[in-house]
This record gives sequence, structure tokens and C-alpha cells, in this order.
Amino acid sequence: MSTCTRFAPSPTGFLHIGGARTALFSWLYARHHGGAFVLRIEDTDLERSTVESVNAILEGMSWLGLNYDRGPFYQTQHFPRYREVIQQLLDAGHAYHCYCTREELESMRTGQMERKEKPRYDGRCRHRTEPREGVQPVVRFRQPGEGVTIVDDMVRGRVVFQNSELDDLIIARSDGTPTYNLTVVVDDMDMDITHVIRGDDHLNNTPRQINILKALGAEAPRYGHLPMILGPDGTKLSKRHGAVSVMQYRDEGFLPEAILNYLVRLGWSHGDQEIFTLDELVRLFDIGDVNQSASAINPEKLLWLNQHYIRTLEPDHVARELSWHLGQIGIDPSTGPEPRDVVQVQRDRCHTLREMAEASVYFYREFAGYDEKAFQKNLTSAALPVLQALHDGFRALGAWEKDALHQVVLRTGEMLELKLGKVAQPLRVALTGSTMSPSIDETLVLVGRERTLARIERAQTKISESSA
Ligand code: GLU
Repeated sequence: MSTCTRFAPSPTGFLHIGGARTALFSWLYARHHGGAFVLRIEDTDLERSTVESVNAILEGMSWLGLNYDRGPFYQTQHFPRYREVIQQLLDAGHAYHCYCTREELESMRTGQMERKEKPRYDGRCRHRTEPREGVQPVVRFRQPGEGVTIVDDMVRGRVVFQNSELDDLIIARSDGTPTYNLTVVVDDMDMDITHVIRGDDHLNNTPRQINILKALGAEAPRYGHLPMILGPDGTKLSKRHGAVSVMQYRDEGFLPEAILNYLVRLGWSHGDQEIFTLDELVRLFDIGDVNQSASAINPEKLLWLNQHYIRTLEPDHVARELSWHLGQIGIDPSTGPEPRDVVQVQRDRCHTLREMAEASVYFYREFAGYDEKAFQKNLTSAALPVLQALHDGFRALGAWEKDALHQVVLRTGEMLELKLGKVAQPLRVALTGSTMSPSIDETLVLVGRERTLARIERAQTKISESSA
């Protein structure tokens, strides 16, 4: 059978960092082995599953570029199939109806606790043949009771479970709806999943799932359980630690490439290499290299990776993401320079694309006001002749090109016997409102002719007003 992995999120929240890492490792495993990757939405918990979460998961997967070959499948569409399998297990005697009431289960539990035993279902309905008047039964899976179940885990190695430790878990509730362990097993079987890669919070379910598969005469997939992700303080990652949803990272200005590179290093390594292209990851990924111990997130490293990718990826590619961020702050990118040109002049100056968008507003629309200090220092009446000479020079220019613009700035300095800074800095403040921008010629190119002339005039007026 050819390799097939799956990502099986429950749509009860956003796609968070932990889920995205699970998805990535499953995806990499499939791609590395030339297999298929399936997306399965485990939405059987009708109360907690929401359409918004489903959409957030699909959006997150697509933004990260984790494409799937089959799906998305929805478990809620498989109810008839689950019912059929439950019946099959009942018919074969691998499952039975349990009529125990809540009170009975409660007192069973109390008794076990008092005797210092592990609380578990004691199997009292295993041999019951008669229904109980007025009680809608649940269906329980009959665990083997003796022997062991071995999980040959791809990450953890061999884990041995005593079957006597596994209680007869409920596979259908009294209203007939299937439970998690049953639906997962049926789908993994029907979808020919060969490798299940998931968080290690599921390790204890694995022997149960293997035993159900055995009862169904199906071969169990291989399992790989990924270690937990911790916050920078070493405690279990949670909302307290800041951005945990993948799309929130997008909002904050991260590139998907940086997130993927960051995620893969949460638990996987290849020598001491830190930066991996996606092709490299597909080639190098070996689940045997996944750490057994938990890994902590490291926000500084993510920032570092993000800057690396902003600097080195194709400007056109980065520009698509920048355009989105410009849109987020109310800028229509068609009202100014090509975002790819903005990327080229800004990429060494920004750690995130949100920062880049915010630092590029003046290319697209009027900046709100001058930075107070920058104005006081650079836009004094001494700057008036400079601005006028620049205005004259720019207005006379044919093509609005970097070299020609640079010449105008140089000539203005020579003509007025001023150092370059005394020309460029007032111009910069006039164009951008502050003293921070890319080089003056690049800034001029991107601000464009009309806006440049208008902004010089605006600065001249402002200076006259404030000195009057
Ligand atoms: N739906 C489960 C979850 O989101 C995952 C089940 C599995 O991977 O087997 O935790």
C-alpha cells in the first residue's frame, strides 16, 4: 500500500501552532515518501465544532501551502458508515450494550477510589443478554482483557500497553452517536491511512484504536506521536504566550515560509542547520529525527527567520504578502508604486511585513503630519531655498529615474554650497514626514513625481506658516 498520512483537526478553534506543526510533519512525511496527504475535519462534536473554525483551518492550511491530495472530508458526513461498523462490532461480539446508569457508574468509581484502584469500567454489562427497561444503552468495545498491545512508535520507539489496563471504552453514546476513538479508527481504515502522525496527547488512545482495528480485521497504521510544544517559560503552550493561531502570525507580518521553517524546528533537526527551503525539507525530513522531548517556542528566532525570508525570497512573492498588509491598513496598492519595488528598498529595514507596510504608507497616500522633532530640525526657513531649488530641478526632469534624481540632489548641494545631508534631510522630511526612510533617491522614485512636487510645496507652505 502506498504511503498515506492525514491531518485530522477538530474544528473547535483556530489552527494553532501545535496543530500546524502536526499538519506540517504529516505533510512532510507524505511528500518525502511520495505518498498522499489527507485532510479530515473531525467535526462530530456538534456542540463545539463551528463553521468559523473549519474556515480558519482551511485558510491556515492554504496560507501555509500545506496542500492535500484528498479531502477535506467531514466526519459528520460519515455517520451511516460509523453506525454500520458499530453494528458489525456488536454482531461479532466485539462490542456490547451497556445499560449502566450514571449513578451506578458513579458508585463504581467511588468504590474503586476507596479501594485505591484505578477508576475504570468494570465490565459488568459484558455478559448481559437482557435489555433494561427504560434505559437507552451505550455501546462499549470489548477490550481483549489480557495480553499486551505494542505501539511501535516512529518517534517514541516501542511502547507496551497491558490490555488489562484498557477499559471497555464507549464507542456509541446512548443517542447512537459515535465517539472519537471509533470515528478515527473507521476513517483511518477506510481512507487507507498508513501513517498516523499526531500529538502525544493521543498516545494513550493508540492501543485502544489498534485493538478496535484488530477486531475489524484491519491492519493498524504506523503511529508517530509528536512531543508537546512549550511556551518560552517552559509551561504548556497556551494563549497566554501571545500569538498561537497561525493566522494571527500572518496578521503580525510573518511569511508562511518563516512559519514553516520555525515549526519544523519545533522538534525536528538536521545537524545544526537552521534554515531550510521547503524542497530541502521534503528531501531531508525523517520522522526518526524528531525529538522525544518537548520543545519550547522562541519568538526571537521566528523574527530572525522572518527577516531572513523577507530579505531572500523573490520580491514578487514577498510583495503579494505586503499587498495584503497594505490592504489591512486601508491602502490600495494600485495607488502608488509596485509593491515589489517597495519590498526591494525596504527589505533590509524590516523584521515583519506589517512593519514594512506601516513604514511605506507615505508611498501611497499623504502622511498624517510631520514628526515634530524632524520638522523643527530640518524644515526651518534655511530649508526654503533648498526646497525651491529641488522643486525647480525635479520639475524640469524628463524621466523620473533614480540617477537623474540623484543628480538633481547633488547639483542643488553644489549650487547652494551645502553638504549633501543639508539637502537630503529636509527633502526626506518633506517627502515622508520623518527622518527615517530608504535612501533619498529610492524614496524619490517611489514617492513619484506628482507627490514629490506637491509635498515640497506643502513643506514650503508649512515652513512659511510656522515662521510667520
Ligand atoms: N481530532 C483530533 C484532535 O484534533 C486528532 C485525532 C487524531 O489525530 O487521531 O485532537
